[in-house]
Amino acid sequence: MSDYIILCDFDGTITLQDTCVPILEQFAVGDWEKYDKLLSKGLINLHECMQRQFEMIQANIPTIISSMGSIPIRERFADLVSFCISQEIKVVIVSAGLDFIIRSVLSQNNLDLPVVAAKVKDERFQLEFPSLHYPDSIDFKVDQVKYYQAQQKKVIFIGDGNSDLQGAMQADLVFAVRNSFLNSHFENGFSSFLELKESIMNLNNKF
Ligand SMILES: [Mg+2]
Repeated sequence: MSDYIILCDFDGTITLQDTCVPILEQFAVGDWEKYDKLLSKGLINLHECMQRQFEMIQANIPTIISSMGSIPIRERFADLVSFCISQEIKVVIVSAGLDFIIRSVLSQNNLDLPVVAAKVKDERFQLEFPSLHYPDSIDFKVDQVKYYQAQQKKVIFIGDGNSDLQGAMQADLVFAVRNSFLNSHFENGFSSFLELKESIMNLNNKF
């Protein structure tokens, strides 16, 4: 099984709700939602959308973390992670959210996983995006898929949203949160990570 790797989205996939929206609602000064509209119309890319929105934040990182409270995660994620460790399947989080938010939620849940996501570089919330291994990659999620495929890994991509589409199209196998945007493009749906773990266990028989 160790020829598999799991690339897993964070917001709406591991967490039940988006973690960035409440932070923008609370701390951004100005009309941050207009950038979501520009992104959905294809007038700006994901990186630009995130940068424009987060630089409207008027708060520091400790203030934001203490405002977050306890963030619930989807049922049985820790079980999936334990199973993957036992099978030597690496699990990497690939997220269009922010690194420090993701690490804070993982820490709340006693989890420690590699995270590929934008980092905050300074107090004005300038972002550093994951560097691309392939300059022609449309975004860093698809870039990560290609990077591991070049290492002869079969990439299992797990996600829910628009930012997962390119990565999912490149991946070897896709699981989408049931009834999500991604599930309208990929038929393997799941609601709990127990269900997903069972699907991955069955792969042993298929490959
Ligand atoms: Mg998501």
